[in-house]
Amino acid sequence: MAHIQQLPATLSNQIAAGEVIERPASVIKELVENALDAQASQIDILVKDAGISLIKVADNGTGIKSSEVELAFLPHTTSKISNLHDLFHVHTLGFRGEALASIAAVAKVALTTSTDNNAGVCLKINGGQKQSLTTLAKARGTTVTVTDLFYNTPARLKYIKTVNTELNHIINIVNRLALAHPEVAFTLATNQRNLIRTSGNGNLQQTIAGIYGRLTAQQMIPFQQANADFRIQGYTSLPQQTRSNRRYISLIINGRYVVNNQLIQAVIAGYESKLMVGRYPITVINIALDPLLVDVNVHPTKREVRLSKEAALAELIHTTIAQSLAKLNLIPDALRNL
Ligand code: ADP
Ligand code: MG
Repeated sequence: MAHIQQLPATLSNQIAAGEVIERPASVIKELVENALDAQASQIDILVKDAGISLIKVADNGTGIKSSEVELAFLPHTTSKISNLHDLFHVHTLGFRGEALASIAAVAKVALTTSTDNNAGVCLKINGGQKQSLTTLAKARGTTVTVTDLFYNTPARLKYIKTVNTELNHIINIVNRLALAHPEVAFTLATNQRNLIRTSGNGNLQQTIAGIYGRLTAQQMIPFQQANADFRIQGYTSLPQQTRSNRRYISLIINGRYVVNNQLIQAVIAGYESKLMVGRYPITVINIALDPLLVDVNVHPTKREVRLSKEAALAELIHTTIAQSLAKLNLIPDALRNL
């Protein structure tokens, strides 16, 4: 038997990265969530080769203090929680302190940041190894450039699908992040073209227009409802305005895009028999609830969450959507969508 020994930090970070960073879209999700947590009002994303050769995320948020930049890249370092109480009342998208360490373990990263529109720093790390730390002048905010993703983990690189598939994953996640944050102006571009642009003016319907098109957004029905535990608000499409998969149903809990099958089923159930077989609505639901009712620490990517009153929430979504669709029948066709 070999001796038991603690793994070197670079190796354990590479292992941990496997849980958080599955594909280029995961890098973008983590970097954008950091920008949102830093109160950015503008987030610009650039990708080349669907993020495999380059991902650049630039924000105008708070920035990171020069003295803490290196710390931010160590595993389990975070400014967002400091004790168990915070963990159960988490109001930021991040809290595990893993993303930067994980990304830097499996790619080449350059982070430039400034907290004061003046002096900033640039830290370069390749595969977990610090390359350089330099000072520079910079506007307030943070720009992270990730190149050659998975260059040092060939097994992971092999799992990367075609450029088209990876780009679709990226567009899908940026769509959801933008829908969850109408108050933030997002752009997503490749070196050839602009793919997404939202205004950041805070209006959800206009953000939906930026993502799914103006006509689609104009025809959607607003809804809102609240009880002692939940406040839900959003837009859902007409029964005849559908898509062939559920990807157009977005659930946002306290500003976090999540996946939850029971709640998606509740949206569909709200349409009762109004949907054709194999067709699904376009829906964006914002759900506000006490952070104590939701456990986001179930999975490293935080995509799936555990809700303690899931059935009651599903019921509220079902009835609210059903009622707003029922109201439609009272509006003469000639007046609808004016
Ligand atoms: P977490 O988001 O879970 O805290 P990360 O590894 O993603 O962990 O980031 C570590 C820390 O670095 C954050 O807690 C935050 O203080 C800082 N940070 C990362 N990205 C940004 C950013 N874009 N703007 C400001 N601070 C950032
Ligand atoms: Mg983070």
